[in-house]
Amino acid sequence: MRSLLIKNGLLIDPVAGPSRGDLLLARGRIARRAARLSAPPACDTFDASGLWVFPGFIDAHVHAREPGAEAAETLASAAGAAAAGGITSALLMPNTSPAIDSPALLRRLRRRAEGLPVNLFFAAAATRGRAGRAAADLAGLKRAGALAFTDDGGCLPAGLLDGLLRRAAALGLPLLDHAEDFARAGRGVINSGRAARRLGLPGIPPEAESLAVLRDILAAAAAGPVHLQHLSLAASVAALREARRLGWPVTGETCPHYFALSDADIRRDDADYKMKPPLRSQADREAVLAGLADGTIDLIASDHAPHEARLKAGGFRRAPFGIIGLETLAPLCVTELVLKRRLTPQRLAALASLNPARLLGLRRKGRLLPGYDADITVLDPRRARRVPERFVSRSSNSPFCGRVLRGWPALTVVGGLVAARGAQ
Ligand SMILES: [Zn+2]
Repeated sequence: MRSLLIKNGLLIDPVAGPSRGDLLLARGRIARRAARLSAPPACDTFDASGLWVFPGFIDAHVHAREPGAEAAETLASAAGAAAAGGITSALLMPNTSPAIDSPALLRRLRRRAEGLPVNLFFAAAATRGRAGRAAADLAGLKRAGALAFTDDGGCLPAGLLDGLLRRAAALGLPLLDHAEDFARAGRGVINSGRAARRLGLPGIPPEAESLAVLRDILAAAAAGPVHLQHLSLAASVAALREARRLGWPVTGETCPHYFALSDADIRRDDADYKMKPPLRSQADREAVLAGLADGTIDLIASDHAPHEARLKAGGFRRAPFGIIGLETLAPLCVTELVLKRRLTPQRLAALASLNPARLLGLRRKGRLLPGYDADITVLDPRRARRVPERFVSRSSNSPFCGRVLRGWPALTVVGGLVAARGAQ
């Protein structure tokens, strides 16, 4: 394997902060980091002048749709989309068909993911068939390679919650929850409020999320760590902040659409704006931004949820929930958080790389230090480009098409190998 020297970049380590310099990658690891390095024999060079060099971005919430909905996405197409988006590792959700609730299926999928251009890791279902009636074989799933447990798409059932929290804690793996009270969400398809009234659509009240978040936080205090997926509300951010202050074992994520959009951006009945939880109010958006800035929210994940165009053509009432996000996460973070809101690139490195690495127990990922894995995300903060209508993903259900962003990936390196190269 040839080594790779990344020269003259702004190296952004989430702990040490930014410094200008060179990074030498060899044998799959970061070999050296210094102000100036010369290329050893059998070495390629990448000039990162003016570019930001991050430890590889880790997206802890991705739906790859294999098995069961391969027309929307596959492991291979998700890996390609991730590489194009500067994502070097992705945690895949188990709400496939069938659900990833058995060690045998998990082993088969992990074999299929070998050799793809990015690291694909798997979360396994917390309950059998994600049906919420009986716990899955968590120990067997851990032995088969699961990095986390979740019933994402569905909420962890109240009756099993304490037991699942204790078992996941005993196994040392995170339990992730899609915190939603489905009885309260009912048939809603959009945030309750002005946008729902204007479009004449049934609303999802904020309590559908906030009550489930409070339930999970209180259960975590008693029984073991929980990670709250895709938080979208001011009330959720406030609850997470208070739980942290009390020293309770709770972490949380949000997604780019919750800090880049609000329900006021939904101008017409366009299901590319339909996801769960729904886009919320401008006040909620501001609270999510504040939670990212002050460290309350631990990480940013895409909740990449591809759907076939024919399914999304049905409008809010009929279309499935979810939008794609692997290819827009990095530029949305750079544009909305760093360039517009003055979050530091160092904070972004923690949100997109170090903190997801910690959540998933990936000890050699998340920093730009010698000995760490040579997973690198290089972004260009200068060049503005429109989000395209077509993606590397098999699906194109994005509300961001046509939006001008900066911070597009210039180079994605995984295990020392170039996984994608952006147009310079
Ligand atoms: Zn979810």
